[in-house]
Amino acid sequence: NSVARKLLVGGNWKSHGSLKFVKNFANDTLNKIVYDTSKVEIVIAPVSIHLKDAQEHIANNIHISAQNSSAFEDGAYTGEISASQLANFGIGWTILGHSERRHILGESNTFVASKVKIADEYGLNTIACIGETLDQREAGDTIKVCTDQLDAIRAQVDDWSRIVIAYEPVWAIGTGKTATSEQAQEVHEQIRAWLNENISEEAANNTRILYGGSVNAGNADELIQNPDIDGFLVGGASLKPEFESIVKACN
Ligand code: PGA
Repeated sequence: NSVARKLLVGGNWKSHGSLKFVKNFANDTLNKIVYDTSKVEIVIAPVSIHLKDAQEHIANNIHISAQNSSAFEDGAYTGEISASQLANFGIGWTILGHSERRHILGESNTFVASKVKIADEYGLNTIACIGETLDQREAGDTIKVCTDQLDAIRAQVDDWSRIVIAYEPVWAIGTGKTATSEQAQEVHEQIRAWLNENISEEAANNTRILYGGSVNAGNADELIQNPDIDGFLVGGASLKPEFESIVKACN
């Protein structure tokens, strides 16, 4: 929400949708959103086997993103899609470290950081997700958890210019429990302070920090008023027409 940073609204479709959904949602909703591309960027992440259809049907200056990419180069890694293969496919974005991958699939901070490193090497923009569980918040560890996740990335990546951070408290994801505007701003401000101390003043000024976790048409307006919230990573509501209202809240 600052003057300098272009806001970003990401739609994380997770493992939802069909080819028909991709086409219909593109035509009925995404391609009709009227927004100022100098102020807001839209990034949509379908499952990998829908990327080609998304490229074909989604227009309106909307970027298409993968939801994951490999920690390794091309090679004997069954089931993985490499950053190089995504770049070769014309995909410019990837989401890494989503809490579902950290907590359900067991990806460690170091493993996520390796993915960010290789994505960056192939020129992909990364939405790097961080955030604490409810237990961690209640134990007072929110900032430590988030900065440990960021420190792991810093240990492997020097250039932060293609990284967008998504702060997504795990307890707010898919639960209908959004962080309050104050809770979100407090963490975003501390993440920006971390950037300033650990990366550079430039990174602190330029890096977009998105909020994610039960963002919807009803809470986006208030959340985006905060000085350190630069947009959203939206799950459930990105599969519905209300996604347009979330973009409008940022416009
Ligand atoms: P949600 O998901 O908006 O459905 O809570 C957000 C996310 O997981 O990125």
